[in-house]
Amino acid sequence: MNHEPTVFDKIINREIPAEIVYEDEHCLAFKDINPQAPVHILVIPKKPIVSLAEIDEQDAPLMGHLLVVLSKIARQVGLESGYRTVLNTGPDGGQEVNHLHFHLLGKRSMKWPPG
Ligand code: AMP
Repeated sequence: MNHEPTVFDKIINREIPAEIVYEDEHCLAFKDINPQAPVHILVIPKKPIVSLAEIDEQDAPLMGHLLVVLSKIARQVGLESGYRTVLNTGPDGGQEVNHLHFHLLGKRSMKWPPG
């Protein structure tokens, strides 16, 4: 399902600025504007997928690609001691921007369970 344009579509289209750390044909990664850890990067598909609840089998290669990119970025920014990967889905999942995105959080010790 396509969605109404979000702030992330505007970042993809360069209508608003972001600190982009990686881009390819299928995805974009940029620094979170309100970081919750010393490293806080968002990895998003260029395809306008609302959330994890919307994906189907045809999105499997794209979802895999997003995780491979996230893993490479984690290596590049020096997160060898570990990191937290978060994918919030829907209102109860704490999702605020209706464009699927992985959070990559690192350079601090994470707690469990999350709030
Ligand atoms: P979520 O709550 O999982 O939907 O996460 C949305 C994230 O997007 C939050 O961590 C926000 O700080 C971040 N965010 C919102 N607007 C921007 C923006 N213009 N540039 C970078 N990150 C943003």
